[in-house]
Amino acid sequence: MNKIEQLQELLSAPKRVVIIPHMNPDGDALGSCLGWSQFLTIKGHQCTVIAPNEFPSFYNWMPGSSEIILHSESPVTVDTALENVDVIFFLDYNDLKRIGDLGPVVESHPAKFVMIDHHRQPTDFVDIMFSNHDKSSTSEMVFDVIEALGGKVDITKEMGECLYTGIVTDTGSFRFGSTTSETHYAAAYLLEAGVEPDQVYSKVYDTNSLDRMRLMGYVLAEKLKLVDQIQAAYISISEEEQNRFNFQIGDSEGLVNYGLAINGVKVAGFFRESDGFVKVSLRSKGDFDVNALARVHFNGGGHRNAAGGRLDMTLPEAIAHFERIMKKFKDELYFN
Ligand code: 5GP
Ligand code: MN
Repeated sequence: MNKIEQLQELLSAPKRVVIIPHMNPDGDALGSCLGWSQFLTIKGHQCTVIAPNEFPSFYNWMPGSSEIILHSESPVTVDTALENVDVIFFLDYNDLKRIGDLGPVVESHPAKFVMIDHHRQPTDFVDIMFSNHDKSSTSEMVFDVIEALGGKVDITKEMGECLYTGIVTDTGSFRFGSTTSETHYAAAYLLEAGVEPDQVYSKVYDTNSLDRMRLMGYVLAEKLKLVDQIQAAYISISEEEQNRFNFQIGDSEGLVNYGLAINGVKVAGFFRESDGFVKVSLRSKGDFDVNALARVHFNGGGHRNAAGGRLDMTLPEAIAHFERIMKKFKDELYFN
């Protein structure tokens, strides 16, 4: 039996389903979970989305987002929601470490585990694994799975909005190298299902607070640095700076990309001081592999051109660490 047939068999009778995005869920994690949840609901299953923690307010409009249970806020509700669950879907990550404290809670759950994900080097903790790092987004993969299950005609406008959001956010609005004809095919179909792209775009990107715009101006003017003689750039923000701009979750999304927009820069880093650690985002152009870099030097992973991780050190130490590593890669950067 192939994977689709296994999934088809698993879902051949109504099931109690839980769907879990990764920690600090982004547009793709939320979009894929919410779209998939709505599809399964139409097919007669009982679905709950449980997120490890809070998500940015600019995703509040997404159909179904108000019913998401947050483990960080309601662990007891999560325990109840997990009772008698038959299937757990893990969407947009491939390692239980990516859901933080929720990992140990679900790890030995008797339910069948299914992964749908587009990151490299999956950990095999599931019964059925859909893993394809050539795909632009997990939302595109959910579209493919729905199509393979013969369910494309059931895609509603609301489902489409969720999946479209995931595709748009993970492809940088169809501009990253991960964008393929299949991505555009999925997007085209979602428009046919009723999605209005301008509406989605403005709900995600035109809902900034003034504080966030000011933070962006500040980091571009004062915090965007080049590593001497190396084709690398970075931005860092301390807790004090976050407080100054009334920092809300999601406010730093996308800032890492500004480093890459500088002529000649091939790697960009973004460092945000958090409670006792530094959250790291890495981006690259071309062949330079920030997934490998994140795995070896930043306790993380991701994709070739977009990865993340964390460093248990101070912000100045994290910056020094990045600069040191970038200098080591000087030649590789030059030739890539
Ligand atoms: P971001 O920089 O936007 O947080 O993440 C970029 C990419 O790297 C995303 O695909 C995300 O899933 C992955 N990523 C971010 N943080 C981590 C991490 O701590 N560990 C791993 N394995 N992947 C991460
Ligand atoms: Mn994704």
